Amino acid sequence: MGCLFCNILSGATPSEKVYEDDKVFAFKDINPQAPVHVLVVHRVHTKNLDELTADNSAMMGEIFLGVKDVARITGVDKKGYRVIINNGAAAGQVIWHLHVHILGGEEDLGPMLSIRPN
Ligand code: AMP
Ligand code: ZN
Repeated sequence: MGCLFCNILSGATPSEKVYEDDKVFAFKDINPQAPVHVLVVHRVHTKNLDELTADNSAMMGEIFLGVKDVARITGVDKKGYRVIINNGAAAGQVIWHLHVHILGGEEDLGPMLSIRPN
């Protein structure tokens, strides 16, 4: 079964690139939930955090270095931004290639969870 984000990585599916290096690729979310909404994926396909092991856990550092670069490139580092991983069905994961959402560009991003407002 094909993976949409692997297809984006290969260029078979178009995306709006924000950043890339030899480990990760970042692109605009097609359905943005904030003025800045970027996804960071590792080039190595991993379903989600459930597949992390001592052998592949370095990928999280590589992803989060990418997150930091995306925050700087988009300018959301100045006021702050939210980082989200939807891990598994209950969290709403629909693309089964581990990815980090970066959300920002608002003065106040609101409560952390809409089902549990502050
Ligand atoms: P998740 O619930 O964490 O699995 O979120 C998947 C995210 O991928 C959603 O925010 C979608 O809007 C986004 N998405 C789906 N297809 C594309 C695409 N072709 N290009 C960019 N973002 C996409
Ligand atoms: Zn994939």
